[in-house]
Amino acid sequence: MKKPPARITKSPKTQKPDADAPRCGLCGADENLTRTECCGEWICDDEDSYVIFSFARNSCHRNHRRVTLCAYHHNEGHRGRWQNCKKCRESFPTEIYVWYGTSEYNFTKLENPPAYEATCCSGCKTVIKLSGGGYSESSDGIFCEKCTRKRFRASERD
Ligand SMILES: [Zn+2]
Ligand SMILES: [Zn+2]
Ligand SMILES: [Zn+2]
Ligand SMILES: [Zn+2]
Repeated sequence: MKKPPARITKSPKTQKPDADAPRCGLCGADENLTRTECCGEWICDDEDSYVIFSFARNSCHRNHRRVTLCAYHHNEGHRGRWQNCKKCRESFPTEIYVWYGTSEYNFTKLENPPAYEATCCSGCKTVIKLSGGGYSESSDGIFCEKCTRKRFRASERD
């Protein structure tokens, strides 16, 4: 009869770092935190440091509030989970819906984002990323940055 070899198992609990200390779920900062109203996650309490009109996306709290379905769903008072909320789905063009649902400012991302047709420039047919900005919309269609500038110059010449 052989004895099974003795195994020495180290308890993982001996040298545990302070894993329970709250950290911002977006950037990992551990100072100046607050909980989000929509989902109760720890996040930087940094709205005050945001410079108005700087257009910088440098505030975790602000980003989660503005660029996620989670916050939108909560602010609009929808019921249930945002991940399968029909009202949220109907509130945005699919591209924007997918962007809000999968942006880096989410704690949980949309698991199966719906497919969507890319938006193309009415002028040169380049694909326009609605999340990227820099495009313009008019009664003639939607135009990329280049075509917007071209059209602007053309209208100035008149
Ligand atoms: Zn943060
Ligand atoms: Zn949230
Ligand atoms: Zn919703
Ligand atoms: Zn174009």
